[in-house]
Amino acid sequence: MLAGSAPAGRQKGTTLLIIFGLRVFYRTIAQGTFHCRRCGGDREYRHRAGRRWFTLFFIPVIPLTSVGDHVQCTTCRTRYVTEVLGQPTTAQMQAALPAGMRAAVSAMLRSGDPSSPASRQRAIEAVIGSGVPNYDEAMLNADLMQPFEAIRPALNQVGAQLTIQAREWYLTEVIRIALADGSLSEGERQAALAIGLDLGMTQAQVIGVVAMTEQSAGRD
Ligand SMILES: [Zn+2]
Repeated sequence: MLAGSAPAGRQKGTTLLIIFGLRVFYRTIAQGTFHCRRCGGDREYRHRAGRRWFTLFFIPVIPLTSVGDHVQCTTCRTRYVTEVLGQPTTAQMQAALPAGMRAAVSAMLRSGDPSSPASRQRAIEAVIGSGVPNYDEAMLNADLMQPFEAIRPALNQVGAQLTIQAREWYLTEVIRIALADGSLSEGERQAALAIGLDLGMTQAQVIGVVAMTEQSAGRD
């Protein structure tokens, strides 16, 4: 009796599933470019919102609960939580590094003597090293015209993308500009602190980097 009723129950269940069902359907609500960790590069994405539907003969007839959004790479099909869109793309990171360095070197030069040939040379080398091979005196002069408040977002952006070690390296490059024409003035120390804070460093970290850079410059 038990053996006979079990297959009958399964049969009934299967029939019901064919007629009624629940299925999640997705629709694309936005598209764009993001950095796909699986692919290891910038890829196109689809931002999709899902909703569970009550289906009848596979046709969605009644919308039910929302199942949330996700971001899907159109290349490898990997799904991510939507927070992934807050991460910079490779192209944005490549642009942020030199933009941040240009902001930092002009802030540092202005806090000391912006006409010092040794400091200017060091500043141009730092910007070229960050990825602007054609950076020259004219471009530096144009950057020096920018008010500090206008260049702060570039520092914030690059700071958010760098590791702690990379921020320290970045700040070291900037301090060497001020040290190129002699020891640090009080204004240059203040500039190093402002740049470090805008990069997301703590005051203690900045003071440590300043002390180490001064020491290594003294040994050279
Ligand atoms: Zn991918």
